[in-house]
Amino acid sequence: MKFSKNYLNKFIPQMNLKEISIEGQKKILKAKIVVIGLGGIGTPFLTYICRAGISNIGIVDHDKVTLSNLHRQIMFYSKDLNKRKTISVKSKINQIDKNIKVKIFNKKISKKNIKNIIKEYDYVIDGTDNLDTKLLINDECKKQKKHLFIGAVSQLEGHIFYFDFKKNYSCLRCFMPSKPKLSVRCQDEGILGTVTGVVGILIANEVLKVITNNKSQLLNNILVINFEKLSFRQAKINRRLTCKHAK
Ligand SMILES: [Zn+2]
Repeated sequence: MKFSKNYLNKFIPQMNLKEISIEGQKKILKAKIVVIGLGGIGTPFLTYICRAGISNIGIVDHDKVTLSNLHRQIMFYSKDLNKRKTISVKSKINQIDKNIKVKIFNKKISKKNIKNIIKEYDYVIDGTDNLDTKLLINDECKKQKKHLFIGAVSQLEGHIFYFDFKKNYSCLRCFMPSKPKLSVRCQDEGILGTVTGVVGILIANEVLKVITNNKSQLLNNILVINFEKLSFRQAKINRRLTCKHAK
């Protein structure tokens, strides 16, 4: 694979990093990523990952843009109100780079469709806001041995998880063996755009590290960011032998 002069010019600032270099840039170009949930986490993630030179993206969401999305979902503007999120995000991605191949899944992710939606991608980004969907994504990623990055926020706290299911270690169910009784949508308990933004961008940063060097300190861990105290804590998620997916 040979890069055009234009391509080299565009990405030279990041290729000058020894951690990226020409080899890393080639891996970025080839990586296939699917983002489930085009909200406060999915949109900053996409803004950065697409600018880094990803060329193959899948986007999944069934919602339309509403007024209460605009304070945190940074790919949407007033003119996008009532438009389908997928259509609107695809147009923004192609304004960043018209050569990025964007596949749209205008669907609510479900047991029936998830298998086919994620199968052609190596990296799955979970930016959804409810636990049932997160567990569904976890289980299917485990089956298909994907890299899974999960983002979540709860008021002024952000959570990021990373699992590589080729390595068959822990999963989201090991962290949360039983579902909490009351699960509220993050929007209803209060949510700040800067919090979801940092979570989305940190996931993009970790994805780039895994793509280029296959390394992330976050593997099998949860990172908890407290935005009020400005503290970062990381904890290992051990494999639970009782987890229904553990082998
Ligand atoms: Zn597990």
